[in-house]
Amino acid sequence: MLLTITTTREPADDLGFLLHKHPARFQSYDLAFGRARVFYPEVGPDRCSACLMVDVDPVGLVRGKGGGEGLLGQYVNDRPYAASSLMSVAMAEVFRTAMRGRCDARPGLAETPMPLSARIDVLPVRGGEPFLRSVFEPLGYAIEATRHPLDPTFPDWGESRYFSVEISAETTLARLLTQLYVLIPVFDDAKHYFVGEAEMEKLLARGVGWLDSHPQRDEIARRYLRHRPSLYREALARLAPETPAIAEDVEEPSARVEEAVESSMSLNDQRLGSVLGVLRGAGASRVLDLGCGEGRLLRLLLKEPQFREIVGVDVSVRALEAASDRLHLDRLPENQAARIKLLHGSLTYRDRRLEGFDAAACVEVVEHLDPPRLAAFERAVFEFARPATVVLTTPNREYNVTWENVGPDRLRHSDHRFEWTRAEFLAWAEAVASRFGYSARFLAVGPEDPTLGPPTQMGVFARGR
Ligand code: SAH
Repeated sequence: MLLTITTTREPADDLGFLLHKHPARFQSYDLAFGRARVFYPEVGPDRCSACLMVDVDPVGLVRGKGGGEGLLGQYVNDRPYAASSLMSVAMAEVFRTAMRGRCDARPGLAETPMPLSARIDVLPVRGGEPFLRSVFEPLGYAIEATRHPLDPTFPDWGESRYFSVEISAETTLARLLTQLYVLIPVFDDAKHYFVGEAEMEKLLARGVGWLDSHPQRDEIARRYLRHRPSLYREALARLAPETPAIAEDVEEPSARVEEAVESSMSLNDQRLGSVLGVLRGAGASRVLDLGCGEGRLLRLLLKEPQFREIVGVDVSVRALEAASDRLHLDRLPENQAARIKLLHGSLTYRDRRLEGFDAAACVEVVEHLDPPRLAAFERAVFEFARPATVVLTTPNREYNVTWENVGPDRLRHSDHRFEWTRAEFLAWAEAVASRFGYSARFLAVGPEDPTLGPPTQMGVFARGR
């Protein structure tokens, strides 16, 4: 198994100080289950890479040197080359100080965000690329993933569960290492090296500051703790004390989630899934769906008890009627019906009914507004309605060239007044955020093209941060 960490922050060979491993030396460490080696395939002032190579000794594992019964079955197959919990164990041993964010030789450097990337050559991923993205993207990583065929000589056999993955972000080394430490076994989702109280403590300790608000928090905890409902429940409760009743079906493995993720999802489903994830992660309970259309998102929101008050708004009466039908509003039990309301209104006027909500979604709506009305929309949403969180999605125009029937000069829908490139959306969102006292971060939705970006772009605005 091979993990490669690269930085381009000059002087890049400071990476040696951060990792506490000398770039000129080839270092080797004995582990309970094999050996770890650290070496630097490239060392330069503007780019430096360090590799952690872990050799698993299957014989040692069989003999129980690795710590007990049952390891053979777990590790005999893909263990030697596929990154798994053993890789995490090796990281914790070899990069312990770096993971804690300590670097006495270069004070301040460990806390400095820098351009970093991590490449894992063989990562087994249950849930495929959509799951990979749904985990890394909310953490701010750009991700490149290549799925390996089951057998390169027999392409008809289809795809394996193994990926080459490279993630990159402007972040601290400690954050990158810690997140990989937690997430590698989560992707693998095989039997964990050891699951017990100690593992839960580790998860909680390592998850501080990023796992508690992650849209995939529940699934990450569930997998990390290997579907042990009691540990999982306790961990979740401690990660988010305000989380209401946790679903009772935790025993049931993640199959449902899995299916939903793996069945080749339509872009629309991915979009709504991402929006839902952000709303969940924000801990919202009173939510607005601005430009709700026929109520696809509303239907998903209604299924989740976290959302206690749900309001859909649209300017089109016909869309609202369709939404009402789709949601069977006339047949809902009283307690459900009390949670949801549809309002007829326009997002380009101040509307007091929309004030005081925790979060608002605005999915594929801005591009329907006439540009001269945008300023009114911005005020109506960010100045007057002013929810704590706004999740907004819109097409990425650059991506259109990949669709034969759209092409570079056309828009995706006849009612779109414009479609933004990534740079245009970024500029608009940053300006809106700074004007109204929000911070903005950006997520990609759908399969990301290395040069054109994703088909859908998403901005998440947080008030007062
Ligand atoms: N969010 C929905 C619908 C997107 S289509 C979904 O993802 O399925 C865009 C929607 O925005 C349409 O339903 C349209 O009626 C609505 N819309 C356009 N201009 C609006 C305005 N000024 N105020 C409120 N809704 C508007």
